[in-house]
Amino acid sequence: MAPSVRVRLGKKAKEGPCAVCPHAILKGVVHAAVLRAFGLSQKGVPKWRGEHVHLACLPAFLIADYTRYVDRQKKPRGRQAGSSPFKLEPEQLAERKHLIRTRARLLRLVLATSDKDRIARLKERVVKVQSELGKYGGAPRQNMMRRGEEDRAELEEKLGM
Ligand SMILES: [Zn+2]
Repeated sequence: MAPSVRVRLGKKAKEGPCAVCPHAILKGVVHAAVLRAFGLSQKGVPKWRGEHVHLACLPAFLIADYTRYVDRQKKPRGRQAGSSPFKLEPEQLAERKHLIRTRARLLRLVLATSDKDRIARLKERVVKVQSELGKYGGAPRQNMMRRGEEDRAELEEKLGM
């Protein structure tokens, strides 16, 4: 999220610390009360954190907040290249990928039909692909798959596996 800061000027009701410099903000001094957004809570509500700074310290505060945003390290999503848990040679990895794609395609075909004979034939192929996959690290883990709960339940029911 882009840096979002709300600034309100006001007289300090009581002496307190400045978020930028080590000097206190004295009672009665016009200062900036700053609210910073820190992402969203689990309920999706933006979380705000309030801080107080001297007016003279406000530019430094805003620049620091901007830098915090610009410099933050975005964690790349998904599995990182070379982090495969399987100790496979590149050709084996390619074969594994091919088998996983084939398996996914077959499962999609199973989901698309209610023809019992067709499902039985598809199941044979799925079983074959899965046993092949055994040589290449086994079937993908459930939590690595993007299939929804409903589809999973339907597959279990249709394939009995
Ligand atoms: Zn200050």
